[in-house]
Amino acid sequence: MKGLYIHIPFCKSRCIYCSFYSTTGGQQQEYLDALDREMSLRHDELTASPIRTLYIGGGTPSVLSSGQLQQLFASIRRHIPHFQPAEITVECNPDDMDDSLARLLAELGINRVSMGVQTFDDRRLAFIHRRHSAVGAKQAVASLRRAGVRNISIDLIYGFPGQTLAQWDEDIRQALSMDVEHLSAYSLSYEEGTALYRMLEEERIQPLDEEICRQMFEQLVDRLTAAGYEHYEISNFAKVGFRSLHNSSYWQGIPYIGLGAAAHSFDGNSRCWNVSDVTAYIRGMKAGIPQMEHELLTAESKYDEAIMLGLRTREGINLELLERCHGKDKKAYCLRQARRFLSNGELKLEDGFLKLSRQGIFVSDMVMSELFSES
Ligand code: SF4
Repeated sequence: MKGLYIHIPFCKSRCIYCSFYSTTGGQQQEYLDALDREMSLRHDELTASPIRTLYIGGGTPSVLSSGQLQQLFASIRRHIPHFQPAEITVECNPDDMDDSLARLLAELGINRVSMGVQTFDDRRLAFIHRRHSAVGAKQAVASLRRAGVRNISIDLIYGFPGQTLAQWDEDIRQALSMDVEHLSAYSLSYEEGTALYRMLEEERIQPLDEEICRQMFEQLVDRLTAAGYEHYEISNFAKVGFRSLHNSSYWQGIPYIGLGAAAHSFDGNSRCWNVSDVTAYIRGMKAGIPQMEHELLTAESKYDEAIMLGLRTREGINLELLERCHGKDKKAYCLRQARRFLSNGELKLEDGFLKLSRQGIFVSDMVMSELFSES
């Protein structure tokens, strides 16, 4: 069983905080033809074991026309016989959603939709150059519900310059009022190369105080868990039975195939990724010579990844599995490094699982780096 990720690297406009690979140019049709070609070139990989989850991300997959979405699914079904994943997610921009798109998604078998709502404050949405409004986000969810989509996830951002705890509380209140099955929340980050980063460098904005960001995260965890959501990964919350199967498989180290420009694949031992350039990707696929890079994972990097992914989840690191995959010495090293965090309460050990405590979540990066291999 494995996951399949398909990258659609097109956006109508660029949000100022975004560092994902996407372009506002055309070439959608050539790109879909190239994806079809990649499926054919990677036929053996795609059909070696069943696909458990499909995630179509971006960019903005919902910028594709109805015909193009149908073409994409026709390609998938033609190249992957018996294609019946348990979960098919597509990322959509609220601004693209209407009743007819929602119906089409349901007809194509998409059973989970993830939308970047980010905030319900229209001024803040304009500041980060999102195309939709708060009302638009609510209408998008209503369209999906009318079409019968029963698994909706929304993304939120907190920690905007100047944002107050009361304003963030209002965002959470509005998010809860939408009664979606899944919610992801991230603090605004300043990634090099983004317009937001330039604004910071030019001192046109002041980042929010770290302590307020921390309080915002606490507020989020309190409000969402009180409302019945399970906090199952540092940034992710789900109603019972609605964890993201696709993202959970990343955190469990399950192999996946990534198709499309900039998409990564992982087979358990190595990683490969397509060129982050739509034109070069299309050219490579047309010529039958994919522009791809490979990396063989070392024992150290596999162990570090197991630590990082395990600690991000509610379940934590399965120590028995850690020993089986990485050896007795690595498990002993991990427990040695964990000792001081166990005594100060930032880590806890429960039924053979090493996990972050609530207070540990706030210093997770530091805890993880202490548990990583010695460099
Ligand atoms: S956040 Fe999403 S919509 Fe905005 S530029 Fe990035 S990929 Fe495109």
